[in-house]
Amino acid sequence: MLLVSVVTGCAVPRAGTAPVSGGALPAPTAPARDSLRIAVVYPAPTDIIQSHDSAFLFGAVRGGRDPVHLGINGQSVPVLANGAWIAWLPLPDDTVAHFVMAATAGADSSRSVFTARIAPQFRPPAGRAAWIDTTSFTPAGSLALPRDEGIPLSVEAAPGATVRLVLPWGSSVPLVPDTLPAGLPAGVRAFVIDTAPRRHVPATGRYVGWLPAAALCADGRTGCATLVVTAGADTATARWPLGVALVDMTFPTVVVLDDDTAHTGTTDSLTAGRAVPHGTYNWFFPTGTVAVESARWNDQVRLRLSRATVAWVNAADVVPLPPGTPPPGGVVSSVRLASGPKSVTLRVPLPARLPYQITERERSLTVRLYGGASDINWMQYGEGGGAAGTDPLVTRMSYAQPAADEMTITLELARRVWGYRARFDGRDLLLEVRRPPALDREHPLRGRIVVLDPGHPPLGARGPTGLWEPVATLAVAFKTQSLLERAGATVFLTRTDSTPIELFPRTHFAELHDADVLVSIHANALPDGVNPFINSGTSVYYFQPRSTRLARDLDRALVTEFGVRDLGIGRGDYALVRPTWMPAALTEGLFIMLPEQEVLLASEDGQWRYARGVVRGIEDFLRERAREP
Ligand SMILES: [Zn+2]
Repeated sequence: MLLVSVVTGCAVPRAGTAPVSGGALPAPTAPARDSLRIAVVYPAPTDIIQSHDSAFLFGAVRGGRDPVHLGINGQSVPVLANGAWIAWLPLPDDTVAHFVMAATAGADSSRSVFTARIAPQFRPPAGRAAWIDTTSFTPAGSLALPRDEGIPLSVEAAPGATVRLVLPWGSSVPLVPDTLPAGLPAGVRAFVIDTAPRRHVPATGRYVGWLPAAALCADGRTGCATLVVTAGADTATARWPLGVALVDMTFPTVVVLDDDTAHTGTTDSLTAGRAVPHGTYNWFFPTGTVAVESARWNDQVRLRLSRATVAWVNAADVVPLPPGTPPPGGVVSSVRLASGPKSVTLRVPLPARLPYQITERERSLTVRLYGGASDINWMQYGEGGGAAGTDPLVTRMSYAQPAADEMTITLELARRVWGYRARFDGRDLLLEVRRPPALDREHPLRGRIVVLDPGHPPLGARGPTGLWEPVATLAVAFKTQSLLERAGATVFLTRTDSTPIELFPRTHFAELHDADVLVSIHANALPDGVNPFINSGTSVYYFQPRSTRLARDLDRALVTEFGVRDLGIGRGDYALVRPTWMPAALTEGLFIMLPEQEVLLASEDGQWRYARGVVRGIEDFLRERAREP
């Protein structure tokens, strides 16, 4: 439940800051000549470096006519002909870092001191045997949970101490040393290729414990329990900033989900469910879904979907129903398929708007209904779309009751999944399965609808000379469009100018156009603390299983075009690859923060190479799907 504050790659899956904000360049202090000037793009004056051992800095040397030599804190830094440079530098054990920068070009020289801010770290007080890192209390804030549960505790304190939490009624619970190594923060580990050198960070001073659920500061205050750390003759105490309330599950609170309680009208009408608070999206509950609330932790609510399954959602999406509302559940009766020209729709009559999850496999879709009991006497296949007889796309329907309060309905398909979408219609659940497009084996792009998404703005990374990611991605998208159109595809761009567009309107646009394929084009950047010289290259992300092959084909084609390191494909929780209606992938063809790759992204040649890679990737994917009988 510890939230690691790490800046993420350029696509920024959820909350997060782009690593490179660019903006105003700091004025160099006391230049020897004013013709040569050292500009730093990252970190910008407002950035705070989140790593503590090493960090990258990048920017450009301006004004040099001769080859430029740059040194930072005595370390030689290569400078490209256009002035761009990037450096990987050790950081001091402090909250500020001073970098002495010296550039020479022929007779010109420039010297300046650049100051960067570093995120503060807790420091044990000098001369004390017992201490507590009061920034490390986990969990903190207000928590509500049923009486039969408990709370895992963790805190950093003096190694080798005796640690206990004293409760307001006099008893206490012990905390024990966590002996396993701490390792890298997950947000950094995801982007480091070889984690071995830094995997075994000793967990000195981390203590863990278990607090059985009991009302603690139930009046809304926090800090009623006191942590006592004893080392030798020294004792340190601190109030644990936590309040606990008990949830009565014998008379549960029933809630309805609404991802737009502020009535903006601009959302996707889906509330994301996560296995852990603030975690990765694992469920997508349409507005109107009804569920039982079983716990709260600050701005997160835990829903009990069934006896075996819980999901965390944002408290802002949760609207309580009147006390006495019964938990959703009941019998699911006969289901029916209906054929349409571009899809086959399964209609499931429900006792209430039950929470559900759809699982995609290569040739099947399974709907899991939480709180449902199957009494499905009839599964009607209906009539084929226009033709007589049963629809050819769905070969078999079946249902199962894996638990008393979970049931599943599975559709097996004659073709591999191309896309689907689900929604409530009154009390019924509709699952619409998309018909795969009729592909031309010789010219797979012919007649296809491709939506290209030039990544950003808002946000977007910047390169050493200031090239802004959305400028490069739009240029690449225009070139990709022209190549795709030449091959017979119809292409739509989610944006054609520099106006910022949020994420949902982009995916909504692709669905409105019934895109056969959606590709979002980006240029990459790394989080603080990751060495760009050994962790950069081409990568492509997907989310839905059917898109794995698309990501692989795009990655292979882009690596062929650029010849940089192949970082491989990844499943990433990005909004642009989550749509269910079509295969979708997000390309991170190059790293804009690296001088040579920024040059490529800024050049006609590099942009055409990126475009050719995207086109070949899409074409390879379609060609392979066209071979399917
Ligand atoms: Zn991006």
